[in-house]
Amino acid sequence: MITSRMIQSKSFMLAIWLCLFLGLIGPDPAVAFSLAERQRFQQAIVDYRPRLNPKYKKTKRKRTQYIIVHTSELGLKTTLRVVSKGKNFRNGRRTHGGHTHYVIARNGRTYRIMDKQWVADHAGRSMWDGQTDLSRISIGIELVGYHYAPITSEQYRSIGLLIDILQQVYGLDDRAVLTHSQVAYGLPNRWHKRNHRGRKRCAKNFVRAKAGLGTTWRHDPDVRAKRLVADAQLAKVYYGRRFGRRGLDEANIISKRNTAWLIAGEDFDSSTTVYQFPDGRLFTGDQINKAVGWHRIPPKTVVQLNQTGSLDKLKKDGPVKTIADGITAWSLAGRSYNHRTTIYFLPSGRIKNGSMISDWDDLPIKTRLIIGYKGPFPVRKDRSAYRIAGAKYKATNTVYYLPSKQLLSGNQIEDFSRLQIGTLVFLPATL
Ligand SMILES: [Zn+2]
Repeated sequence: MITSRMIQSKSFMLAIWLCLFLGLIGPDPAVAFSLAERQRFQQAIVDYRPRLNPKYKKTKRKRTQYIIVHTSELGLKTTLRVVSKGKNFRNGRRTHGGHTHYVIARNGRTYRIMDKQWVADHAGRSMWDGQTDLSRISIGIELVGYHYAPITSEQYRSIGLLIDILQQVYGLDDRAVLTHSQVAYGLPNRWHKRNHRGRKRCAKNFVRAKAGLGTTWRHDPDVRAKRLVADAQLAKVYYGRRFGRRGLDEANIISKRNTAWLIAGEDFDSSTTVYQFPDGRLFTGDQINKAVGWHRIPPKTVVQLNQTGSLDKLKKDGPVKTIADGITAWSLAGRSYNHRTTIYFLPSGRIKNGSMISDWDDLPIKTRLIIGYKGPFPVRKDRSAYRIAGAKYKATNTVYYLPSKQLLSGNQIEDFSRLQIGTLVFLPATL
């Protein structure tokens, strides 16, 4: 009981101030969301459980010690299909889905893929603090996006709420929240003689503070205990000095500093990793060694992960690219996806430039795009293709959008005298 005499006592008041100062009284700083916010979030979760592959064998998780964050390296549609139904590999191997508990779309919408009580097959070969096979003891959350692209503020808000709720359910602190690349490890390979970190780069761009997370590990417990060898890049990202964080700006493009290993981790030689050479040649990871050699991948080669479909859609044929299953505006245009000079031709017939796009994942499959262009310049009676494009009217990189919605390069048009009025011409923006 608090009496007025106690309140008058100086030492009592000092104790109260000290408690407030230390955060022992008042709102728990770890709980950033109100009850109403959490309830609203939970009610809005899309129930995707009926789509789970019936072949996925559900087993109950005995303990829940960790929450593991992933980036899906795909757009929303393909992510939902792969985590629910499974992955198909070119060699015929397939998995039975159940690859996460939750998916968070770029707009923050959250999907429940399977009930959180079951084991999800999401962490693969993994180790943390001496324990292995973390799928058995963790919840998996997939953020739609790439490990080399920014996570949206809507995603941070949703994952913050979701983690908050899960931490309460399982009694977990912020140290229990880790990323997949933090916990994955690989067996010896051409770069490491021993078991090592770096098998995955998944979610290395996840900024904990933006999800409202505090205290974290200052070192890798398995590297410290010499169970594993560190990966230099990941060590810098996770345990480097605060402002020394690297790894956020690197794209999926090969350079002297950005190797296949740094982009793809252990998937570097996988049949689902595709290398697009600057000269247009395409190789899957399992072809590189024989066909080219690992030291001879040319700079500016683009690396695409999780490519299970046909290679045809990645073929470089002229300046027009197409969004397809597993191929997003981000994987085609990178940071230029929202530039004014990236022009999108939607299947509906609408034309938008990048400044009209809110996110790269908002564009439907079969949307075509050209990068680094200005226009449209309509062909009119008094304004021929030659008047618009000059001597370059027949060039490969002069693009024509016909009233029939066909997109053609200048060199693909046989008879310019028959070019219809209303055809739109697009010219390289640097011209
Ligand atoms: Zn992952």
